[in-house]
Amino acid sequence: MELINPERPFVIAGPCSAESEEQLLSTAMGLKEIGIKVFRAGLWKPRTKPGSFEGVGAVGLQWLSRVKIETGMLTCVEVANASHVKSSLKAGIDILWIGARTSANPFAVQEIADTLKGCDITVLVKNPVNPDVDLWIGAIERLQNSGISRIYAVHRGFSTYERGLFRNIPHWYIPIELKRRLPEVPMLCDPSHIAGRRDLILQISQQSMDLGFDGLMIESHINPQSALSDKEQQVTPEELKRILSSIVIRDYEGTPGLLNELRREIDEIDDRLLTLIARRMHVAREIGRCKRSNNIPILQPTRYEHLVTQKVSSAESLQLDPDFIKRILEAMHEESVRQQLTIINSSEEV
Ligand code: PEP
Ligand code: MN
Repeated sequence: MELINPERPFVIAGPCSAESEEQLLSTAMGLKEIGIKVFRAGLWKPRTKPGSFEGVGAVGLQWLSRVKIETGMLTCVEVANASHVKSSLKAGIDILWIGARTSANPFAVQEIADTLKGCDITVLVKNPVNPDVDLWIGAIERLQNSGISRIYAVHRGFSTYERGLFRNIPHWYIPIELKRRLPEVPMLCDPSHIAGRRDLILQISQQSMDLGFDGLMIESHINPQSALSDKEQQVTPEELKRILSSIVIRDYEGTPGLLNELRREIDEIDDRLLTLIARRMHVAREIGRCKRSNNIPILQPTRYEHLVTQKVSSAESLQLDPDFIKRILEAMHEESVRQQLTIINSSEEV
């Protein structure tokens, strides 16, 4: 795919929301100075609850045109319906993005895709708020079906009910799965919305670069403390410069001999693990037969509890993460029970 900018990381930056012409221009000037080439700003911002700042709306399109003329940067806005798309196209916006709440809604995505039919424009598709890779891929496919050829995916984390370290939990395996299924779609990371707080932006950006993401979308405001939305997660252009210069890009494309050796070793270990798991399942079926002939029920919770506690404590002395080992043991136990159930219910001779 033709990239907007092949350098890595490719960075899009700008405020969460456009608030005034002055705020947009001063932020854009600051970002241009640090070498940013694509400027973002949200114009339509329906928030979780009505009544707070809901964006400046279409008037911001004229401010963005001024940003483009005065800085030469490309402009990028969020669209959530046909009318946003039409007015953005008319105003000469270069890149559109579909927000996380919109990409969770196939009605809205289809409406946007229909409006964009035949347009030569770049569209960024943020992951849906819920952790559903098929829904994310579906949104991308709706745009591809409308003939949009420059599509980027943006990972901005997933909404959860529990309050944790992140505003939106990253679930890295989901963008990784998207990349596996759509390798031609470049992937950006939006650490601002994952973090919800500026002190985590560098760490999340670094992780995304280590995972081979192509770029970053980072919220930047000339004066974050006065921002009308998402003020805790925005950084000034100078702070952004510091973040970007701290990121280490690992882009050596060769495969050193040691890496090949280590990979061979991992493959061999995986083969041994598979053989051991097959043996474990064989024994589980034997246990099933024994329980059947002695009329013993399959589940004995005390035995299982004992097994998990004992193994988790051995895992700890081997410096293995206890939660990780618990997840593996639970998955294996679940499968063993399933195997025993097939034995107990089979008509196989005792
Ligand atoms: C945004 O980028 O300001 C935004 C609203 O993002 P998201 O759709 O990821 O919440
Ligand atoms: Mn925001």
